[in-house]
Amino acid sequence: MLRNVLFRYCLLVLVALPIGFLWLYPQVLWCLRVSKSADFQLLKGADEVYVSRSATKKQQSLLRQHTQTALNRIRCFWGDRRGRAILIYCPTQANYEQYCAGGEGAGCSVGTPWGTSYLVLGPDGNDIDVIAHELCHDELFSRLGWWRVKRQIPQWFNEGLALMVDYRFSNPSVWEQPDSATQMSAGLGETTITAFTHQSMVKLADLETTRDFFGGDYFHTMLAYRTSADEVARWLAVVGRAGVPALTSAISNGRDFAETYRRLERSKRRNKQ
Ligand SMILES: [Zn+2]
Repeated sequence: MLRNVLFRYCLLVLVALPIGFLWLYPQVLWCLRVSKSADFQLLKGADEVYVSRSATKKQQSLLRQHTQTALNRIRCFWGDRRGRAILIYCPTQANYEQYCAGGEGAGCSVGTPWGTSYLVLGPDGNDIDVIAHELCHDELFSRLGWWRVKRQIPQWFNEGLALMVDYRFSNPSVWEQPDSATQMSAGLGETTITAFTHQSMVKLADLETTRDFFGGDYFHTMLAYRTSADEVARWLAVVGRAGVPALTSAISNGRDFAETYRRLERSKRRNKQ
């Protein structure tokens, strides 16, 4: 009898959980059904890119070029690409708000606990930097999994890393030309690190969660982006491009983020002495 009740209870939870998730996040349902939607079509010459039928020929052609360049940037930055996100381009705000909760910013990532992820691009999202930024979030997500990213990766690192391939906030020379990056790192002593910390009016410790990062006003979010980009650029200039996959593979093997982040930097500095 008790076994029967428990079985029914578990069955109810199993059915209620995904329904509850989709009810709380209706944009996930829209994304899941994009391939069946009469308003969207697959972009010709690109894999897994859905474009609204209202997009002009020019917008479609630009999207094809921008996606290709952004994908190349991701492959170069990470060494290879493991992300499998599906891109959805909504050229109108109304469309964008349906697929991305709130419809803020130029693009957003919609991830599910079971692994599928979508990158939704809004009216301002048909842009190499925006696409590369969102693809970088997806890359971290696919290498570490949704749960690990949520539990272990501070938001400042998640955003800071995405900003390294988003040249609105960073300089490509930090990682695209390793030689100049090495020179940069050689010049970055403890004084510079302290200067970076003092320059920013927000501490990294106060940018750990999504709420910390995006919960304030526009000025706070911009400052949060700037602080994160400065910190990750500083770290990247020391550890080099190989430091990024080295960090994620250590974390996926069970290592702690903060400890690995510091250890990679320490050992690189030691080797240079
Ligand atoms: Zn971001």
